[in-house]
Amino acid sequence: MMPKHTQKHLDPRQPLVVDTTKLPRQPGATRALNRVVPAPADLGLELISVPTGSDLELDLSLTSVSEGVYVSGKVRGSLSGECGRCLNEISEEFGVEIAELFAYADSTTEETTDEDEVGRMQGDLLDLEPAVRDAVVLTLPTNPVCRPDCPGLCPECGVHLDDLPADHSHEEVDPRWAALRNLSKTEE
Ligand SMILES: [Zn+2]
Ligand SMILES: [Zn+2]
Repeated sequence: MMPKHTQKHLDPRQPLVVDTTKLPRQPGATRALNRVVPAPADLGLELISVPTGSDLELDLSLTSVSEGVYVSGKVRGSLSGECGRCLNEISEEFGVEIAELFAYADSTTEETTDEDEVGRMQGDLLDLEPAVRDAVVLTLPTNPVCRPDCPGLCPECGVHLDDLPADHSHEEVDPRWAALRNLSKTEE
């Protein structure tokens, strides 16, 4: 694990960095956080991801708890990718739930947990990006398909099976091959 002092300094101008200055540090105090931010780069998997800079809609609430700030709610956005069977473009919407505690600096929680388990606050700032990444990646299919029953491509000619007649086949028409085939059948 990386030592604490190498943690990057948060920049409040970053779209997923939240400034909680206006949230009173009294347990139970709450503020809504509704904003649309550009999606960070590389948010997703190789075959399907959130396009960089596309709209990420944050519909969250921030709640003060004794040890920090609890962030919960929904993140919505769009996905684009490629069908693993037919290579057609996939374009769909997603929505994921976020529920994450960010511990105040020098709180007991900060001292008794790992940074990987519980987020950290830097002063009044917190960074939602790791939580958003985890939530989005968990929801993505490792083998995305354009639709659940996508038949894929013909392994012989590479044409989408949707675009081919039901009786499409690459049966050998050469009579010599047909004869050989019949021969081996009779041998069995
Ligand atoms: Zn497909
Ligand atoms: Zn074919």
